[in-house]
Amino acid sequence: MPYCPRCQQSVDSQAIACPHCRSLLKAHGHPGIPLHRALGQEFLCQSCRYHLDDSCTFPQRPYAKECTLYRNQSTPPTTVQSETMTSRFGQWLRRYTWLILGMFALLLLLL
Ligand code: SF4
Ligand SMILES: [Zn+2]
Repeated sequence: MPYCPRCQQSVDSQAIACPHCRSLLKAHGHPGIPLHRALGQEFLCQSCRYHLDDSCTFPQRPYAKECTLYRNQSTPPTTVQSETMTSRFGQWLRRYTWLILGMFALLLLLL
């Protein structure tokens, strides 16, 4: 069972927010989108694979304290195929983040 990065209490793996301290654990209110958080004074990018291979184009790099696409550089890939697909999706998502956000904002304005 995972632990809350803020209060260290055990939390359900599908929990959107910590039931103890209310810290957000998932992004966009979706249980399938983990929200990674930096601890203390550190930045996530310092240990992120996408920072080290210079493929990240997020504007918050290299000072991200929260990120949905953080990937610890020391975490071994599970399989070559899933790593490639995750990496490609991550690159696509980073490349088109502002376009997706713009389209989402436009959709909200139209509703
Ligand atoms: S994916 Fe997130 S944590 Fe990784 S380098 Fe980019 S902004 Fe930093
Ligand atoms: Zn908590």
